[in-house]
Amino acid sequence: MAEYDLVCDVCADPLEPEDAFVSWTSSGGAEHGFALTHTGHVPAGATERVEGRQVVWPNGYLRFISERLGQRIEDPEPLRAILWALAPFVMRHDNAAEMDSMRAASFGARLGVKPGTKPSAPGVGAPGRVATREATAAAGEEHEAGK
Ligand SMILES: [Zn+2]
Repeated sequence: MAEYDLVCDVCADPLEPEDAFVSWTSSGGAEHGFALTHTGHVPAGATERVEGRQVVWPNGYLRFISERLGQRIEDPEPLRAILWALAPFVMRHDNAAEMDSMRAASFGARLGVKPGTKPSAPGVGAPGRVATREATAAAGEEHEAGK
């Protein structure tokens, strides 16, 4: 078993975020029937759906939650269960989406915007970057050791 596992609400088999959908039914300002399922197991009556990979990165997760605010959720328990099930994927330290944002920020690109044609230059410090005392000390030690 992996550290974190999602389970399909329909077939009860394990589920990868990349192959998952959160689906529900919306009518007249009310939402109900939230389900986390395989792509092929989205309930036939669902009127709304969002891809699993879109709700397991922090911005997408928060967008999904904030869009629920103000809606009348007729049966909140399945939605709560889905939010708790997804949270470990959003919070995990090796979240791929989060890593992309951190890499982008490390060379001055904007969060959530793919850096595209400006790759970082390995070994070259970004201009204007302030070295921390620890990093400076570490570099000094490395230099001392290299004598
Ligand atoms: Zn399934």
